[in-house]
Amino acid sequence: MIELADKVAIVTGGSRGIGSAISTELAKSGVKVVVNYHSDVESAKKVVAEVKAAGGEAIAVQADVSNSEDVLSLIEQTINHFGQLDILVNNAGITKDKTFRKLSQDDWHQVINVNLNSVYNTISSALPHLLESDAGRIINISSIIGQTGGFGQTNYSAAKAGLIGYTKSLALELARKQVTVNAVCPGFIETEMVQEMPDKVREQIIASVPVQRLGQANEIARSVLFLCRDGEYITGQQLNINGGLYM
Ligand code: NAP
Repeated sequence: MIELADKVAIVTGGSRGIGSAISTELAKSGVKVVVNYHSDVESAKKVVAEVKAAGGEAIAVQADVSNSEDVLSLIEQTINHFGQLDILVNNAGITKDKTFRKLSQDDWHQVINVNLNSVYNTISSALPHLLESDAGRIINISSIIGQTGGFGQTNYSAAKAGLIGYTKSLALELARKQVTVNAVCPGFIETEMVQEMPDKVREQIIASVPVQRLGQANEIARSVLFLCRDGEYITGQQLNINGGLYM
């Protein structure tokens, strides 16, 4: 078990939904958290205030993860403020769901850039610092859709499946360097991303989940905490948290 009290984490898209739950969960264990956001500064400030009110340390840093210069600045601000980086949670993600025949080139590129190409940006800039840690952790938030596919989600499922392959390959490369690399694959979790779905689709999803409910963001957050704290011998894995929807 790793002592997390002196560790520093970046959570991309840490300002809302699953990312906000991950930020606050890690902070509760003493991790100093960089809450990255793209455009919604108020939500990021709220998460930082929540962490501080509970006695933790956090800062909010704006960066578009699909932009390599923004990401370099995110890592630089982290090191300038906290002096180290031990945990990188690649959580930022977007959807632009359309059947393939209606999908524009822009819909394709935006989703691939934010969900997949972003991890080239974050990891290439963060890796020198993670290698200095005695317990480096990279956690990529993939999705059940990367495993099963999803109607109207060719762009999103390609990105999320890509993250799983990337996780395994990088895990092999970093295994001897005390940096673990894992993917977490949530099923359908009650966040704004899922609330945007038509009611009928949501009801159908809930009916198809063996445990008969949507997941909660803090159920994903606790799995991230587990990988950080207890995951010394866990690398290259996909942790499926989906209520039994995909086994
Ligand atoms: P969400 O509520 O829509 O929050 C998305 C977060 O990502 C926000 O903090 C947003 O920041 C940030 N973000 C978006 N584009 C960004 C960019 N270009 N650069 C930096 N940050 C950016 O989403 P969520 O439901 O919590 O999903 C979080 C992750 O879990 C995503 O990777 C998603 O694919 C994955 N996931 C979700 C579900 C689900 O059921 N919800 C299921 C499986 C996987 P701003 O608000 O500032 O834009």
